[in-house]
Amino acid sequence: MAEVANCPRCNAIFMKGPSVYVCPDCKKQEEKDFQTVYAFMRKKQNRTANVQEIEYHTGVEEKLIRKFVAQKRLHPAQFPNLMYSCERCGGDIQDGRLCSSCTEEIHSGLNKMKRNEELEKHKREAERAKNKTYYSLEDD
Ligand SMILES: [Zn+2]
Ligand SMILES: [Zn+2]
Repeated sequence: MAEVANCPRCNAIFMKGPSVYVCPDCKKQEEKDFQTVYAFMRKKQNRTANVQEIEYHTGVEEKLIRKFVAQKRLHPAQFPNLMYSCERCGGDIQDGRLCSSCTEEIHSGLNKMKRNEELEKHKREAERAKNKTYYSLEDD
C-alpha cells in the first residue's frame, strides 16, 4: 500500500510503496550509483574487490554498496569479497539476514525460552496434581 513518507536519504516527501523506499530523485541516483559499481565490478581485476575498495574507487557510499549486495543485485557468489551487514549486529555477512553468531544466539535464546516454557508447564501440572490430591483428600 502506498503511503506518504520522508525519503531516508534526502528527506523529501514521496509516496512509499512495496518496492519504493526512496524518493524518485534518490532512486535515480541509486540506479546511477549501481551502474557505476557494477561497471567497476565487471572488470576482471576488480572482481575480488571488497566493499571498502569499491567505495574508494567509485565514490559510492559503502552503505549503498552493502544494500546492493543485500538485495542480491551484486552477488557474493560472483564477487567473493562482497559483504553486507547483519541486521542484528551489523557484522559482515554474505548470506541470509543474520551472521552466524547472531543466528546461534537467537537459536540458543529460543531453546532457553522453550526450556523455560516446559519447566512452567511441568510446574503447573505438578501444582494441579497437588490440588487434585488435596481435594480428593478433602472428599474423603
Ligand atoms: Zn530522496
Ligand atoms: Zn550479527
